[in-house]
Parts: sequence; C-alpha cells; structure tokens
Amino acid sequence: MGKIHQLSELLSNQIAAGEVIERPASVVKELVENAVDAGATKIQVFLKDSGLTEIQVIDNGSGFAPDDLEIAFLRHTTSKIASREDLFRVHSLGFRGEALASIAAVAHVTLKTSTGQPESGREMVVSAGESEIHLASHPQGTTITVRDLFYNTPARLKYLKSVATELSHIADVVNRIALSYPEVALTLVNDGNQMLSTAGNGKLQQTIAGIYGLSVARELVAIKGADLDFEIEGYISRPAVTRASKNYLSFLINGRYIKNFQLNKALIEGYGSKLMVGRYPVAVINIKMDPLLVDVNVHPTKREVRLSKEPELTKLLTKIVRETLGKENLIPDAMKNL
Ligand code: ADP
Ligand code: MG
Repeated sequence: MGKIHQLSELLSNQIAAGEVIERPASVVKELVENAVDAGATKIQVFLKDSGLTEIQVIDNGSGFAPDDLEIAFLRHTTSKIASREDLFRVHSLGFRGEALASIAAVAHVTLKTSTGQPESGREMVVSAGESEIHLASHPQGTTITVRDLFYNTPARLKYLKSVATELSHIADVVNRIALSYPEVALTLVNDGNQMLSTAGNGKLQQTIAGIYGLSVARELVAIKGADLDFEIEGYISRPAVTRASKNYLSFLINGRYIKNFQLNKALIEGYGSKLMVGRYPVAVINIKMDPLLVDVNVHPTKREVRLSKEPELTKLLTKIVRETLGKENLIPDAMKNL
C-alpha cells in the first residue's frame, strides 16, 4: 500500500488561500477586481469591524448565470481565459480562477446575483466546502458577503494586525482600484463611515483629488508620451509637492495596479535634482502595452509582473517626466476642469 493520497478539495483550497488571501484587504481586492471584470460601473464595499467581521461587495455587473454558480467556487474555474494563447494575452484582472474557491475555504460566503434575465436571480451559501442554492430576487449584478474570515485557520487569524492596520490596507486596495478605473463609481464604507466615494465620471484628476486631496490635485501636471511599444499617460506632482514615502506612486499596466521598483526609480530620475533627498512625488501613471509584453502570471496576487522591454519603458518614462517638468510656466492643467 502506498502512502500518497490526493488532498480533499477543501484542504487544497485552504492551502491555495494561504497564498491568495493573506488578510481582509486580499478579499476586498479579489471581489472588487471580479466586479470590475464583470463590467460593473458601480461598486460598493461595506465593512464591519474593518472587514474582520464582514466584507460585502455589491456590483451592478453582468451577474452569474445560474448554471455558472456552482462551478465558480471550484478551484481553477474561470470564464476569463480558455487556452494557452489567452494566458499570454490576459485582458482581465482575474484569470487564475482561484479567488472564490480560496475565499470560500477560509470564510462563510453568501452570494446573491442576477443576470437581469427573468428567473435568473439566485442566492448561494457556501461554507466549509458545502453549498446550497435557492431562487432569490436581486437586481442585475452581484452581492457577495464574506463573514468570519479565517474562522477555521487559527494561525492566520492570529497574524492579523489591529483593525486600524487592516482598514488601512483595505483603503489602499480600494484607492488604487479607484485610481485605475475612474469610470467606475466606487464607495468604501466601514461601520457606517464613508471612507471613499468616487464619482465614476472617468476623470482621473477628480479621482486623485478625492483620494489625495485638492491641495495635491492642484499641483499635478499631466504627462503623456509614447513610442512604438508603450503609451504613457497620467499625472505627476510638481517638485514642490512631495511625500516621505513612495506609497503615493501608482503605476497601472493595462488597467492593473502593479508594483515595480524600476518604474519608481525611472520616475524619480525624471525629476533629477528637483526632489529633496528622501522625498517622493505623487503620481498616477497609466501604461498601455501589448499584453504579450507583460507576464502577469508571476505571483498569485498579480502585483508583480514581468516586463519584457523594461529598459526601454523606464527610459521612455524618465524622458517624458524630464521633458514635462523642464517646460517653463507649468500650467496646472490638471485642475482646469475641477
Ligand atoms: P477569476 O477572476 O480568476 O476568473 P474567481 O475565482 O475570482 O476567478 O471567479 C471565478 C469566476 O466567477 C469568474 O471567472 C467569473 O466568471 C465569475 N465571477 C466572479 N465574480 C463575479 C462577479 N462579481 N460578477 C459576475 N461574475 C463573477
Ligand atoms: Mg477573480
């Protein structure tokens, strides 16, 4: 008799959850990204106790077709890619088909959804590998409620920081998605207190004002430039407006917020000697490129990506920033329409 056996679905999902769902903010990230992928124009996030007790995300996206509900919570099930070729040309935020299965393995999940078609409304309750589906009414879109995160993984529960820390991680996640999708109206409410509300009118500078404040938004300069491979567009702060951390730099590649040390460096280099040591600008920069040039399948959370022409991109970024800041009489055009 051999001693090797296949792990149960629930146990392997819990193991996967260890990578994908690190803290309440990871749940918020996955659910809000799913709502964006579902084409939602309005997404609301409601928290109880900074997400430790409950996280609810309501969207007006496509909804789940009744036949898709059960399978959506299995591991590696997705509607977003189908072939190897698709994997190299990912256009959605999700594609790994892991989030729902992972979340349901470490929390109690209730989902209400409808595609807007008659009779398509459903309620699904998923817990500890068991699920139940009933008829229910819901406007087109989806409401997912996640309760008691990590109730069955004591080590993870213990590792959670204070409610204030967890809340700041969540706010950071929602802010970056808001900056990535100014055309989506996003709200974040914790215990009845509204922390963020964006208009969803597509104006990036207004979204930045909503998140970093008017005084920062007034001092932004638009940047724009391209070469054969990359299109760069966004806002950077004048050298007078700086912060003590790099946390106020957001780089979005094809709509996905990513972290990339080289891009940070290239941006700062564009400021030359205009920045004081230890001070960093505020910036939101959208980079568009052929999905073939970016490998998003590096890490389960997809925050790190691999860029095949990184040196070319960083050079272009430095050049655009330098040229923009070098122009005399910078007009605060970012604020003209506010
Ligand atoms: P992935 O996003 O990588 O595809 P998930 O586990 O996050 O994997 O979601 C599984 C599938 O469930 C998605 O591919 C999508 O078809 C569906 N789905 C998830 N969230 C939503 C939502 N808010 N609205 C509509 N469909 C959704
Ligand atoms: Mg997803």
